[in-house]
Amino acid sequence: MFYCPVCKSPEIYPVAGGVVGQVFVCKKCRYRGSFVLETDGKDDELK
Ligand SMILES: [Zn+2]
Repeated sequence: MFYCPVCKSPEIYPVAGGVVGQVFVCKKCRYRGSFVLETDGKDDELK
């Protein structure tokens, strides 16, 4: 789960950023950028 670094909303979605990598857009405050907050849930992280 990702969170917006500006408004802390979880309504932030990855969008196609071409070849430059992942870009996220916040639905709430319209923040756009590659930096987002991430929950520290480890559900899928452990290998
Ligand atoms: Zn936001």
